[in-house]
This record gives sequence, structure tokens and C-alpha cells, in this order.
Amino acid sequence: MPSNHKLAADLLAKAKKLNQEDPLASFKSEFLLPQNVIYVDGNSLGPLSKAAKNRAVEVVEQQWGNSLISSWNVHDWINLPTTVGNKIAKLIGAAPNTVICCDSISVNLFKLLSAALLLSAKQAADDKTDARTLILSQKDNFPTDLYMVQGLGQLLNSGTQTKLELMSVDSKDITRSIEEHGHRIAVLMLTHVNFRNGDIHDLQALTELAHAKGILVLWDLAHSAGVLPLALEECEVDFAVGCTYKYLNGGPGAPGFAYVAERLLPDLQQPLSGWLGHKKPFDFEHDYEKAAGIEQLLCGTPSIISMSVLDAALDMFETISVSDLRAKSIALNDFFQSCVEQINASYSPSDSPLVLACNEQAQMRGSQISYKHPHAYAICQALISEGVISDFRSPDILRIGFSPLFLHFTDMLNAALILTSIVRTKRYTQPQFLIKNKVT
Ligand SMILES: *Cc1c(COP(=O)(O)O)cnc(C)c1O
Repeated sequence: MPSNHKLAADLLAKAKKLNQEDPLASFKSEFLLPQNVIYVDGNSLGPLSKAAKNRAVEVVEQQWGNSLISSWNVHDWINLPTTVGNKIAKLIGAAPNTVICCDSISVNLFKLLSAALLLSAKQAADDKTDARTLILSQKDNFPTDLYMVQGLGQLLNSGTQTKLELMSVDSKDITRSIEEHGHRIAVLMLTHVNFRNGDIHDLQALTELAHAKGILVLWDLAHSAGVLPLALEECEVDFAVGCTYKYLNGGPGAPGFAYVAERLLPDLQQPLSGWLGHKKPFDFEHDYEKAAGIEQLLCGTPSIISMSVLDAALDMFETISVSDLRAKSIALNDFFQSCVEQINASYSPSDSPLVLACNEQAQMRGSQISYKHPHAYAICQALISEGVISDFRSPDILRIGFSPLFLHFTDMLNAALILTSIVRTKRYTQPQFLIKNKVT
């Protein structure tokens, strides 16, 4: 139809103009993306950069291969968790030496939740009040966050006394729960950006509110680090965790990070008291004595190959401000949404349309858009078969992520054209798109 051709031409002109005005456009060439792929899943696994690939070769061939064990000193492997931690600290508004790179979010949650409970119990003893037993979170938090609390509860509640209970509420009830149950809550544990719908919590306001009730606060930054401006130090956040394989492009299974406010480090105690968290690991003493600084969160030997690759991937962020990343992410998100809406409006209404499953305004969402559709899984598979890599989140969410470093506005238009066409023509009903993979 001519009207559709005119619309497509108008949108293409707009996309090209936006590309020209984009100060981050040239970063795409720093990545090794396959030809003919539009990668809108950088929020799940960031792509390979040239720097990361080169470092992978270097760390294996030169460092491990040639320098062998001396690399711990010669290539400073031993300090990699803090070197990388400090690069991440700059991206999340944390003070130097308050972030360490290690383990996964799940494991870091265990360490920090345990440490927070011990601090809270000590405070209650000092104040001669009852120990607080609740960890407050939200029902649709990422499951591992809730599971880790449940597992920790099983361990702690094995005696006669209940020492830990998970209280998970709807997002809209968090403030009220803090007001009503504040004196019983030890820790408020929330994910800054919701993984399904991209809702963003007011980190500063909730941290302040919790602190006013004597509650320690732990933020999960999985969908924020590297794409949303954060000011952990300024907001006086107590604890945070995050992963590095999403927007930080660290590679599959790259180690996560943990943040502890400087003021809490002296009295902190975490239960995974492995040798590398010891004050003097190479004195091989009998008794554990924790390191004074953020190194106390280390447990065992770090995965050097993976952490080195991450270290190289992070260098790209050195010259970019997070507010520029956020501005581009909103612009991509907004342009994609408006392309989908305008293309759909140019056809007669579809009998099974995509329904927005997130805030309507791009600036109110994390770096993603979510649509609800009964056949979301098959649509996602059909998209992948046509070169648009997105992901599906059970039960019915199609999630498109906007990683601002390697996406262009023309990619957004092309992805919108393919998505709307798949839904309109019902190409997703082909049987091969119904086969469920283990990873979605
Ligand atoms: C991706 C993600 C995780 C993943 O946890 P790992 O232990 O690193 O596998 C945890 N929490 C949230 C909110 C996430 O989005």
C-alpha cells in the first residue's frame, strides 16, 4: 500500500537523522556483531567487543601461556577483583574501594544479606530492642533474589526461634509495608529496574524512607549498571549487587559485583570466609581474620580469564558518561515504540495485537520495552529466525532491550518492521517456533 511505503520512507529518514545526531553511534564498530543481526538482547547477554576478544587471546596465550603462575604478580591478577571493582564503582556512583568484582549475584546476595542481618542484630542488642527478622522485597523480584532469602531462612531458622522471614509484597505496597512493619524489618532488598516490565524504583526515596526506620538497604542493579545513572554513595545506600554480563558486556558468566558503603566495612562480617577474604592470605594462618577493606567479600580464587575479559570490556565506558548512555537508551526505546505504533496504525487492527506490558513512557522504564501476547514465545522464536534477537519471559512477555552502545536508530526501525509483520501475518504460528528451548 502506498501509504505504508510513505510511512516506511518517512521513518527511515527520521532514523537516519537520529543516527547522524547520535554522539555514541561510532561505538557500534567496537563490537563484533554478526552480519544481518539486530541484537536487542544486550540486557541479557551483552555482545563481544573487539577489546574483550583481544584480551581473551592475550590472557590465555600471553599471560597464562607464557607467564604462568607469575602472572598473579606480573599481570596483577591478584588485584583484578578490586581493579575491576573500581571501574564499576565509577558507573554506579560508588566511592573508590567500595566495590569488588567476584562470584555471581546469587552468591553475593547470600554474603551481603547475612552480613546485613548480623549488623541489624548487633544494632538491636545495642538498642535493647527485639531483633528484626524480616527481609522486605517485592513479589515479582527476580526469582534468585527471593530464593536466596528462602535458602538463608532455612539455614537460620533450623533452631526453635524464627530468625528470618521473607516478606514479599506488591510493588505498590512497599512504602506502606515499611511504614507499618518498619521496626520488624532488618533489610529492604529490591531490584532497581524490574526485569519483566522495566519499572524503576525511586532508589533515593526508598533508601531514605527505610533508613528512617532503621532498615538496611540492599539494591540489585542487574538491569541498571552501565545504563542508568546511579549515585550509591550520595544516596547513602548500604549494599548493592549486580552482574556484568548484561549491559556491561563482560561475557557469559562473567563475575558479578558487590558494593558495601565505606562506613559499614569495619564492622562487617560475612559467612563465606574464604582465604582470599583473609587479611593476609599468603600467611596461611589457622584462624580467619578478615581483610579491612572491600576485599573481605572475596571468598575463593577468582575466575581470572573471565574477569580479564570483563576488565577489557569496561574500558569502553571510561570515555562515556552514564547520562549519555541513558539519553540514548531512552531515545532508542521511544523511537522503537513509536515505529511499532505508527506501522500498526497504518494497517487495519490485528485480531491478536501486541499489548504494551510496561509503562507507556520510555523515560519511565529501564532500557527495555515489554509486550504481552499469548504467543509471545513463538513470536520471539520467529523474530530470532528473521535476525532480530530478543527474549521471552514466562508466561507471556516479549522483551526487547536497548543497549545504547551498539544499536542504531535504523536497527530500531528494521526491528519494528519485522516484529509488526510477524504479528500481523501470524508467521509465528509455524510449528518450529513452538519448540521450547531450555533457555528462553
Ligand atoms: C540477571 C539477574 C540476576 C542473575 O543472578 P546471577 O546469580 O548472576 O545468575 C539476578 N538478579 C536480577 C535482578 C537479574 O536481572
